[in-house]
Amino acid sequence: MPTRRPSDDVTLDEALMPLRYFGDQFLRRQAAEVADISGDLAAFGQKMLVTMDHEVGIGLAAPQVGRSIRMLVHGLPDEAPAVLINPVIVESRGESVYQEGCLSIPGLYVDVVRPEEIHLRAWGLDGEEIDLDADGLLARVCQHEMDHLDGLLFVDRIGVEDRIATEAELRKRVSGTLGSSDPFLTGKAIKALLRKHA
Ligand SMILES: [Zn+2]
Repeated sequence: MPTRRPSDDVTLDEALMPLRYFGDQFLRRQAAEVADISGDLAAFGQKMLVTMDHEVGIGLAAPQVGRSIRMLVHGLPDEAPAVLINPVIVESRGESVYQEGCLSIPGLYVDVVRPEEIHLRAWGLDGEEIDLDADGLLARVCQHEMDHLDGLLFVDRIGVEDRIATEAELRKRVSGTLGSSDPFLTGKAIKALLRKHA
């Protein structure tokens, strides 16, 4: 998710990774569980954080930078570890409306209804289990980024009234590309979404 706050974070050119944008069907994949926390995961997490800051975001999921694994970072580290691996929502409560955006869909902001509070479990980069109660912006960001791990985008969850303008805008952006066959535009069923609503 992006934020409009100015960012004065120092960026490292070598750490920046290119983003995947709406229409890229890589974003529609179901990401794989991380089997063990080793190798380049810590470095990759760092690169994700630098890329997120550079893009002025408050959250980023691994598939958005071309890696189909269940890992996300967020920009609210005072509330929870900044890197969450294999996150799972154990429980959710309430409901709230918030105008979301997405680094993979620049410039588009639309209201999305989601649970207000979540209880989440994940692994940290150190391999420790993280057990977390989140509400407000942290809960919002985590849910948005976790959707990415299931191949979902926030536009899949917008209300009927917002759909027409959003569809027209996204259709224009991917016109003449393979992205025009995105499920959001063709109305093709998205399995992960169906499962969650079941
Ligand atoms: Zn996003």
